[in-house]
Amino acid sequence: MPSALAARSSASVWHPCTQMQRHEADPPLAIVRAQGPWLYTEGGARILDGISSWWVNLFGHCHPHIQAALTAQLAQLDHVMLAGFTHAPVVELSERLAQLSGLGHAFYGSDGASATEIALKMSAHYWRNQGRPEKSGFVGLAGGYHGETVGALAVTDIPLFRAAYAPLLRLAATVPSPDARSAQPGESAADVAQRAAAALHDWLAAHHQHTAALILEPLAQCAAGMVFYDAQYLRLARALCDRYQVHLVADEIAVGFGRTGTLFAHQQAGIRPDFLCLSKGLTGGTLALSAVLTTDTVYQAFYADEVARGFLHSHSYTGNPLACRAALATLELWQQHDTLAANAKLAQRLSAALAPLAAHPRVRHARQLGMIWAWDVDTPLPDFARRYQRQALARGLLLRPIGHTLYAMPPYVLDDEAIAHLTHNALAALNATLAEEDGASTHHEAALP
Ligand SMILES: *Cc1c(COP(=O)(O)O)cnc(C)c1O
Repeated sequence: MPSALAARSSASVWHPCTQMQRHEADPPLAIVRAQGPWLYTEGGARILDGISSWWVNLFGHCHPHIQAALTAQLAQLDHVMLAGFTHAPVVELSERLAQLSGLGHAFYGSDGASATEIALKMSAHYWRNQGRPEKSGFVGLAGGYHGETVGALAVTDIPLFRAAYAPLLRLAATVPSPDARSAQPGESAADVAQRAAAALHDWLAAHHQHTAALILEPLAQCAAGMVFYDAQYLRLARALCDRYQVHLVADEIAVGFGRTGTLFAHQQAGIRPDFLCLSKGLTGGTLALSAVLTTDTVYQAFYADEVARGFLHSHSYTGNPLACRAALATLELWQQHDTLAANAKLAQRLSAALAPLAAHPRVRHARQLGMIWAWDVDTPLPDFARRYQRQALARGLLLRPIGHTLYAMPPYVLDDEAIAHLTHNALAALNATLAEEDGASTHHEAALP
């Protein structure tokens, strides 16, 4: 029986990334409060948030430090337009992000997709300002995901999200993904990276004159199903972008803020992108905010007498003081806790506790990167993801496989009890789901992140 709130939700709310008819069988779960890694339902049941609420939460829900910062900011300044005005939270956040990334001139959007749009527009406009307007195309990796507004969808290679809107899009080119799983016998992940970079080389050699930027998710293509790849690809891609005068856009919307074991994933390759897109964990999972950072070279190409050479892009809530304050409070938590070192220890404990899952006879390509774990499940169940999610929720665990890839991307605040809860129930839900194989329909179902 759906709760009253769930029924009203199905009638009034159009839920994201959802075939709404599915809510007839699986109504949305009404959550009334959250604390740390736990979500609490109307009925008082608790659910461990094993995917950080779509990868946004870092330090747990309703963190008192972020809460206090937001409350204080709300009493002081709620919002003011950022064109012609400024305020302390946006200035302090821009300074902090510049220190952390080595890039500057923070431009703000609301969601991840708006950050992608900003980076693409800035890149093409840069080339136009340089007298090279023909450099306006983009290239991305196979399976890449950069958001779902029309511009971002054009560089997103997930056919399910794209097919219905193909006529609206100016599709970007794709080059092979350096997916470490595609290693041939005797090949290392770095060899795969080398091979994929050779394909990128060929593509750029032929098309660089019409290409503004290469956009990619450094080290982990999350929405593609937690596809991990070797840092060598980023080094080679950086060198090729330099050689062919093409910008490198690092979309760290999902992988930024410690998910891969470093503050930013591209740092593991020792490279610097021309554009860095941030969102999701930027506010610790409290408010929608995104930022694009870039180089002085790019910034200077827009700095002129002529208005039209400027970057005339805006969103009403650009640089919202509350969202910036939440981001600053989140960055303060980073500093206070030596988060990367703590995460490295937490990851070891989680990996040890997840060893039985990795060793499950139906699991292929068990893999871990920083605070992300993924397992490909060998099952004929076409709707494995939906069935697994249901089994996990019944055990008080939120995990939402992508296709046949089961993964965990939890907040950084799991205690021993939460670790035991996650690892025990992830395995129990897998066995319960596989037990449904007998007699299950073979109706094919699409993969949603
Ligand atoms: C989630 C995501 C986006 C889009 O962010 P939204 O806030 O959902 O618009 C873009 N790129 C990557 C890599 C993402 O994971």
